[in-house]
Order: sequence, then C-alpha cells, then structure tokens
Amino acid sequence: MRVEGDRITAIGPDLQVGPDTRVIDGTGKLLMPGLVNGHFHSPGTFNKGALASMPLEVFMLYEVPPLDCPPSSPRLDYVRALLGAVEMLKIGVTVVHDDPFYVPSVDMGRIDAVMSAYRDSGIRATVSINMPNVPELQKYPFLSELLPDAIQRRLQAAALPPTGDLVELYRAFISRWHGQEGDRLRASVSCSAPQRVTKDYLAALSELSHEFGLPYNIHVLETRLQRVFGDVCLGRSLVRYIHDEGVLNERALIIHAIWVDEDDLDLMAASGCSVAHNPICNLRLGSGVMPFRSIMDRGVNICLGSDELCSDDSVNMWSVMKQAAIVHNIADPDYRRWPSAAEVLRCGITNGARAMGLDRVTGSIEVGKQADLLLIELDSLAFTPLNDVRRQLVLCENGSDVSLVMVGGRVVVEDGRVLTVDESDLRAEVRELMLEYASQFDAVERWVNELEPFYRAMYERAVRHGVPIDRWAS
Ligand SMILES: [Zn+2]
Repeated sequence: MRVEGDRITAIGPDLQVGPDTRVIDGTGKLLMPGLVNGHFHSPGTFNKGALASMPLEVFMLYEVPPLDCPPSSPRLDYVRALLGAVEMLKIGVTVVHDDPFYVPSVDMGRIDAVMSAYRDSGIRATVSINMPNVPELQKYPFLSELLPDAIQRRLQAAALPPTGDLVELYRAFISRWHGQEGDRLRASVSCSAPQRVTKDYLAALSELSHEFGLPYNIHVLETRLQRVFGDVCLGRSLVRYIHDEGVLNERALIIHAIWVDEDDLDLMAASGCSVAHNPICNLRLGSGVMPFRSIMDRGVNICLGSDELCSDDSVNMWSVMKQAAIVHNIADPDYRRWPSAAEVLRCGITNGARAMGLDRVTGSIEVGKQADLLLIELDSLAFTPLNDVRRQLVLCENGSDVSLVMVGGRVVVEDGRVLTVDESDLRAEVRELMLEYASQFDAVERWVNELEPFYRAMYERAVRHGVPIDRWAS
C-alpha cells in the first residue's frame, strides 16, 4: 500500500516509491483500518473506576449534577479530552465521536479546550455540544411528586441557556472548528436526549444538522425508566416522540435504543438512522441488552461505542467488540442469529464511520480514503496459534498487539508509544488537576447523598410500572 499526504493512493505489490519515502515493513503483521469509537463523552475521563455500579438516573447525579456544581477550568476540559484521546490512540482507535457535556454551563473557551485537545492528539474527531436546557424535574417521571418542595424550588431556579444563545454558540463552533486540520476535526449536533431539551431547541438542532449535513446525537430509551417516562409524560414512546417532532431521519444517531418496541424499530428502520451500541456501559449501569438482531434485521446501521469512562471505565474498543459479540447470545435461543465476528468488526469500524457521515472518508482500506490504519503484531499470544483472524481480533485481542497507528497518513503511535503528546507529562498533569477536581467532586457527593433517596424512590416506582417489553436478563 502507498500513502501520500493524508490518503491511500495505491494498493498492490511492487509499488513505486520515491527516494524520500518511508517504507514500513509489515512482515508478520496485520494491516487493518483503525477502530471507530462511535459514542463517547470526554468529560467523564477522570472518573474511571470512581463510581459503584448504579442505574443511569442515580449515576447522572454524579456525572451531570443538577445543583451547585462548580465550573471546571478550560485546562481541565483540555486535559480530560487529551487523556481519553491518548488512551484511544494507543489501542488503535483512530476515530471518535465525542458528545461532551458541560456542567454547569458552556462557553466557547471550554469548547476550544476540547477541540484543541483533539487537534493536538492527532486523532480524528467529530464533536458536538451536549447542553440540556430544561429544568431537572421535566426530565423524569414522578420526581415532582417525590422531591421536597425546598429542593424543587432550587432545581427550578437553576439558570438554563435560551435556545437562541445555544444556536448562536453552535454556529460559532461550526464556523471555527468544522473541517479544521484538513477535515480531521468535524462538528456534530446533540440534544443529549429529547426529554432533556425544549421542543424548539430539539427542532433548531435538527435544522443545523440539515443545513451543515451533521450527525445528530440523540440518547433514546437507554433505560426502562425512560420507557416509563414516555408512557407517563408523553403518552407515547420517545422514538415515536422524536419521529413526531420531525427529527428522526438519516442523520440521527440514536444512542442505546435498548427499551425500543416493534413500532419504534419500524420507525427507526424507515428513517435511515444509525444506532450507537454501548454494550459495556449498558451492563455497568444495568440498563439492559439492546435488541441487536432485531435492529440489524431491519437494515439499521449499528456502530459501537465505549460511552464514557465513568460507565465503561476504559475506552477499549476491543473489549466493546468482544462484549457486543457475546452478550446477545443470552437474548435469543437461536444461535444462528448470534452476532458473528465479521458483523462485529463491521460495527466497530465501517458502520462507525457511516454513523458520522464519514463513510467516503474512512472506515476501510481503499484508494482515495484517509490513511487511518493499524498494524497488529501477529507474533503474539492473542494470535498464536492463528486459527481465524476475525474471531481472534474480536475475542482474543485487547489492544496490546497494536504496533503502529496512523491517522490521516501521520504515524501517531509506534511501538507502544504515542508520538503526538508526552504521555508521562500528561499523566503527571492529570494527577495534579485531580487535586482541584477531587475537591469539586466531594461537593457533588454531598449533594448526591441528599438527592439519592428521592431518585431511588423514582427508580423503584418506575420498576413497578408495567412496560410491554423486557430487556433485562432477570
Ligand atoms: Zn452517552
């Protein structure tokens, strides 16, 4: 293969190269496209292993505290995003779709910090702005009946950004960063989840997505409680709701899609949307098992994501692929319908590129595409003996045999070392920043202790509320 500039220009034997060309010997190695992390939130990066397992609705109190969360500095935003990017690059993730949330508020300084981290790391990144704009009580069923009045008043008093301001920020973000670094950095839009934004903002994001051709991140039916929310608060499923609001289309990236019913699946299939499947996160938070085969059977594009480092605890897409390959085996007695290694590799690479609108740019080895490539050492324990390379990539490899990573024709990792960033300096800075972050987190924990019994009561009430489908293994 020949790479010139940022792309693949020839594939085949006996290729002509100039005298200044670097020749990389791939003897005994596997050349493959880089992995794609189709769903990630960089702000969670400092919280790997920090939290016990708990349902999403309680977990989010720590992740995006609804009260009294001090703003983080742009440097913290930068370092968190850089740490995640370095961890991904070292195990062979060349493309990431980041949906960073900003607590308690967002501004261009914080956005620049995240984008600068992606610029400096060398990874290919599509990035949104995840900024809900409705009061906490509107996001959940039953909560207004359960929370004491004093807490409700405080929650209702929280300042929320108006739609106009957020759209203006998006336009500034797109003009500043979309297409930068030779199109390595791109923008997408995000509502977080439909129940977390006003209807006019949900629609305005869809218009931006249409105007600029950007993917639209929408977390939908991640949990059983969200299914109950649809029944109780909307009188319909959240998939039906986004369809009715006109935002379910081919640019929509439906994240999770666990508690979807047959009607939801038909709407999703007709829309041409993609689905981001995050199997490790879904087990860690007890969300349930996505109906993989029912979605796949309808021709919906499924990509894979790690979700964030506080709910997957790593960004290891090899682990995500392995989990995607095996967890669905408990959902269907017909073993002929269980995911194959080839399907899972497509989800983890090609489908991820497609979900970001990058299917003509990356995700496969073809002349004209970006050189986003890995060399995998085959003289290693995971591939010895070599029985079936696809199955061993999905079931045996863990990222430790990635010997070279190239993004857009630039070697960014070689022999286990990331070349774009001084990793030991980065780790030292993370430890230093943790002093500031840990004290903030202590304040958050005090609030969570106060709120947790009410959120638990909401969760338990939702568990008692009947729904027509089951995505738990119980
Ligand atoms: Zn997410």
